[in-house]
Amino acid sequence: MAIVEREVLESGQPSVPETQPEPSRERLPLGPIKTIHVYWLAGMSCDGCTISVAGATNPGIEGLLTGVVPAMPKVILHHPVLSVEAGAEFVKSFADAWEGKLGAPYVVVFEGSVADERIAGRTGGYFSAMGVEAVEGVEAPQPVPTATWLRRLAPGAAATIAIGTCATWGGVPSAEGNPTGAMSLMDYLGKDYRSAFGLPVINIPGCAPQGDNFTETVFAVLLFLQGLGPLPTFDELGRPAWLFRDTVHQGCTRAGFYEEGIFAEHYGDPQCLVEIGCWGPVVNCNIVQRGAINHMGGCMRAGGVCIGCTMPGFPDKFSPFYKTPPGAIVSTFAAKSVGMVIRRLRRLSNREANREHRWDVTGEVPSGWAHVQAQTATDRAIKFFYSAWQHLGAKKPGRPPGQEDRFWGVDRPGSRSDYNDGSAVREDKR
Ligand code: SF4
Repeated sequence: MAIVEREVLESGQPSVPETQPEPSRERLPLGPIKTIHVYWLAGMSCDGCTISVAGATNPGIEGLLTGVVPAMPKVILHHPVLSVEAGAEFVKSFADAWEGKLGAPYVVVFEGSVADERIAGRTGGYFSAMGVEAVEGVEAPQPVPTATWLRRLAPGAAATIAIGTCATWGGVPSAEGNPTGAMSLMDYLGKDYRSAFGLPVINIPGCAPQGDNFTETVFAVLLFLQGLGPLPTFDELGRPAWLFRDTVHQGCTRAGFYEEGIFAEHYGDPQCLVEIGCWGPVVNCNIVQRGAINHMGGCMRAGGVCIGCTMPGFPDKFSPFYKTPPGAIVSTFAAKSVGMVIRRLRRLSNREANREHRWDVTGEVPSGWAHVQAQTATDRAIKFFYSAWQHLGAKKPGRPPGQEDRFWGVDRPGSRSDYNDGSAVREDKR
């Protein structure tokens, strides 16, 4: 590997890479791609993004790696944890991509936030590095910060994808008081960054992100690179728009409780969790619709409040966790006031919908489980007006008055031929 010249700080330590990207290389043409390399880099990371991507199911990562997903190129993954190669051999493939020796397009995926390596460099250390290389003026080979690899590889990449909230917005490592100067890819590469295909950084947030959100986005981008699909729609922050357009609340299985003004008081209660700290109404995320893995789990389904982990303001703007968000005080008051009336009316309709038409006529519910209260005069009056309104201008289904004897129980009353089910014919043949 070539000896790399680095600016030397007053302290004698190498500086961090500049925050400006290299000028974009020549744009690559669209067209069928047989193989594509994915270079996975990790900064200030817990490896949770890797774990969630490994759990993706639709498409699964193994389908992309084995090249069995229709219309997809085979993905060659260079991953510090999952790759078989290790040491210098593993790092060499990253250098090959940087030096343009690959002969195939590549995508960069960055997990974790990008540390400000100048801070660590002042004391002769580093925050996050991969491999070593000779540095002019320094005797021993020096660790190469993953931030440096990002700066080297991003301009030539077909796409650069930030996975997880640390990479997309800085996340926990960039929280107030952090000593590392951690930042997102957008902050590190700058707003002028474009990949070789002209794409700004693609952001797939979440702590950890939903694995399918990542594989689906990669799938959509690869379809575009194949010339087989349109460029997927991204919002103004580079998120896949179709995945992050709605709030958690809009897709939450507990939203009906919110609407009716019924709120959980304790963890484990089945109602809406907003009063015990859920920020779902203002958080863009699809975790409830999609589930954590293979449509299973997901924060509110599992009883957890939304703490805003997909959002650029996370974590500071959502702290302290597990406290009622101030905005919820107004909305829950309104929901409780309206919900008090609405849910009583709905309960009436629900009770009515839980009765067969036959039971209304016979006056009893033949349930062996428990006694079911008979319709009261008030119930019947409400039903009369409700049903009249419901079927206004439409044909009302059901039997006309006077033909109630068509209802049968253990013994079928009336003529068997009334039933039009062939039973009369079968009777004749006996
Ligand atoms: Fe909305 Fe959270 Fe309540 Fe779900 S639990 S309905 S996301 S506030």
